[in-house]
Amino acid sequence: MTISSNQNQELLRQASTELEMLRLHGSIPCKNSNKDGIPFPNTCLHILRSIPGNSRCIDCGNCNPDWASVSYGILLCVRCSGRHRSYGVATSRVRSISMDNWSYSQVLSMLEGGNEQLHNFYSRHLMCDKISRVFDRRYQTKAAHFYRTNMVVHVANVGKFSQWKGREASRNKAVTYQCDKRKKSNNEHTKVVMIASAA
Ligand SMILES: [Zn+2]
Repeated sequence: MTISSNQNQELLRQASTELEMLRLHGSIPCKNSNKDGIPFPNTCLHILRSIPGNSRCIDCGNCNPDWASVSYGILLCVRCSGRHRSYGVATSRVRSISMDNWSYSQVLSMLEGGNEQLHNFYSRHLMCDKISRVFDRRYQTKAAHFYRTNMVVHVANVGKFSQWKGREASRNKAVTYQCDKRKKSNNEHTKVVMIASAA
């Protein structure tokens, strides 16, 4: 399932509204509020299913995976989700797309991740070949640790922006944000150097 450019903007707008409601839902103290979030929002789910690679389990290729590892923003079949649970939550945080409740940052992580994205990452680190010894423990490698740590940072940065406007917009903003941060830190560094040299 791919999203045509005609539908794209409307879907993104609806998904953005769902995310904003989810963000507020988590922050409004009320009697019926559920701290664990809400079922995966409909339009966000539509977008999630259209992300490249997400029609098949990332580990075994089974169709229509309905489980997720939030740590990587990937979709898994039920069998592989069991294996991911055995890794422990520090390595892979597993949730059901259809049965669990979801928080704002968890949904965002799924919309910013994707099976093809992680597959390409593993491919660059030569961890996609099933006959390689590394394949079965690829989620426990330093490379996987690097990937999930960066996912957390990326999702936190995207969450700082006003409203979610799609993966491409997030990436552009994240690059600008990192550049601004680097510029700011360089400026701070220059200030320190100037103060030090003036002393
Ligand atoms: Zn699988």
